[in-house]
Amino acid sequence: MAAVKSKDTTPEWVVRRLVHSLGYRYRLHVAALPGAPDLVFPSRRKVVFVHGCYWHRHACRGGRSMPASQVAYWKKKFVRNTLRDARNYRKLRRLGWSVMTVWECQTVAKKRERLAERIARFLG
Ligand SMILES: [Zn+2]
Repeated sequence: MAAVKSKDTTPEWVVRRLVHSLGYRYRLHVAALPGAPDLVFPSRRKVVFVHGCYWHRHACRGGRSMPASQVAYWKKKFVRNTLRDARNYRKLRRLGWSVMTVWECQTVAKKRERLAERIARFLG
């Protein structure tokens, strides 16, 4: 059988499962909100973004690595991404939403317990 990478192992699925196991209900990718947050908790007015470290330039090793070629092009693209993120967070906060970012590197198995605590605190 072909080794198909299960969609259930993506960072977003990890977060969804955690949130679900904590007993919270959410909506997905609400396009009407700035940045179309990955998980939306309308009654709490809270949103969670699940970001890939590389594309969204997390301050971890994965987010600092650069492609081998066309570095100037990618740098510009990365700057655009981070500026867009910051702009969306600002817009959301202005609309009264609280924003939490979960980074891909925080969803690995050994960090999940801590992540669950963080999420519970944020939504609490
Ligand atoms: Zn990271």
